[in-house]
Amino acid sequence: MVVSPSASRIWEAALGRLQIQVNRPSYDTWLRESVGLALEEGVLVVGVPTTFAAEWLERRLRGVIEEALGAVAPAGTGITFRVQGQAAEPMPMQASVVAPPPAAIADPTGADGGMPLNPRYTFGAFVVGGASQLAYAAARAVAEAPGAAYNPLFIYGGVGLGKTHLLHAVAQHAAAAGKHAVYLTTEAFTNEFLTAIRERRADAFRERYRRVDLLALDDIQFLSGKESTQEAFFHTFNALHDAGHQVVIASDRRPAALPMLEERLRSRFEWGLLVDVGTPDLETRTAILQAHAARSRVPVPESVIEYLAQRILSNVRQLEGALNRLTALAELTGTAITVERAAEALGASTMATSTPASPRAAIASVAAAFGTTPAALLSKRRDKAVTQARQVAVHVLTHALGLSATSVGEALGNRDRTTVLYALKQIQTHLDADLSLATQVGALMRAFTNGAPTHSQQD
Ligand code: ADP
Ligand code: MG
Repeated sequence: MVVSPSASRIWEAALGRLQIQVNRPSYDTWLRESVGLALEEGVLVVGVPTTFAAEWLERRLRGVIEEALGAVAPAGTGITFRVQGQAAEPMPMQASVVAPPPAAIADPTGADGGMPLNPRYTFGAFVVGGASQLAYAAARAVAEAPGAAYNPLFIYGGVGLGKTHLLHAVAQHAAAAGKHAVYLTTEAFTNEFLTAIRERRADAFRERYRRVDLLALDDIQFLSGKESTQEAFFHTFNALHDAGHQVVIASDRRPAALPMLEERLRSRFEWGLLVDVGTPDLETRTAILQAHAARSRVPVPESVIEYLAQRILSNVRQLEGALNRLTALAELTGTAITVERAAEALGASTMATSTPASPRAAIASVAAAFGTTPAALLSKRRDKAVTQARQVAVHVLTHALGLSATSVGEALGNRDRTTVLYALKQIQTHLDADLSLATQVGALMRAFTNGAPTHSQQD
């Protein structure tokens, strides 16, 4: 069935799965920049930017990666991670922030610190729709005149709506104009900070970030509850702000909905401009798919684009993921992309979740929409992201599927009904306060209330 599979296509198909299975900060930090380089005697060679990334993937993510690979590659395909040479990709900022070798820091352009930028995430490649117009305009303004316009710029909105894309675009644009721009996920910032403390290099850490012209920090919601990192970030933020340097932040919630954030940080965020990236409308979803299809190696018929744009409502990442899967499938099997195949592919990805509108399907949808896994929702994990996704699952099971509190508890890892009722209250408060969360949950609710096919929200 597999006809001369190329390494990069296989790895892309595997990444499509990993995107759903691995939590988002990890995916963004460790997998997003990886590429399938070669197939050497049945072993897929995957290129990663740093030794640290290679080790991390090897030690922490190997199991889930092998599983994903098993689903897309010929049986018995092995995997190995290889650090790619610096010249491999024309990325403006090559140095990785996480434990880079000293040589990598001493970049002659001074662009040290920060994670590699995705060359695809530019302003030009961002499709502006009604909901994202303001966020786009603000990001452009900030990129053109860092520190002058809105400082900080705080971009918030649901998963997969283009926040990271805009942050990369800002950093890329500023770097091209000769600014020292640094992009980092909050997870990487935290890791680096903790390493610096452990190795007694806290001063060097502080110095490093005070020198940048523009700091783009992604997924700030992961600062919630991390007190010492918040402290470090607070000082970094003040130093940058006082010096007139630009800070751009992305979050999945508005500052007011980040409960574990110190008040003084929250109020700092509100100094500048808060903009949200909303859910794209049908027209924008179609335009995004068209742009994506134009870059594809396989022709994508307009009918398939229409089909996907109508089926996948709330999340651009899911839209792209579905199209990527279809493209990979078409390439691997040497067949054309059709609406039937699209329906099949979307359906196939939900096979594990049985019948439409079953609790399992709903839980899987919620997990996918929030970048986590059903197992995490059923587990005892209590970190913010999982807790919120779990509350959303409670909401959907109760209000869309009409389950009793007891049944909801059973479906979600045998929780008792008081816990369920409490979660319902909590999520209602969040929904009232957070429009983008409400929009996202609204789309999930629609998918299940209509008795709609499971795949409308599945990825
Ligand atoms: P977020 O950080 O908000 O979760 P991302 O920025 O990672 O979302 O976006 C997910 C994917 O969707 C990326 O591949 C991104 O390029 C794409 N994307 C999101 N919004 C748009 C848009 N308006 N135009 C083009 N691509 C988009
Ligand atoms: Mg993001």
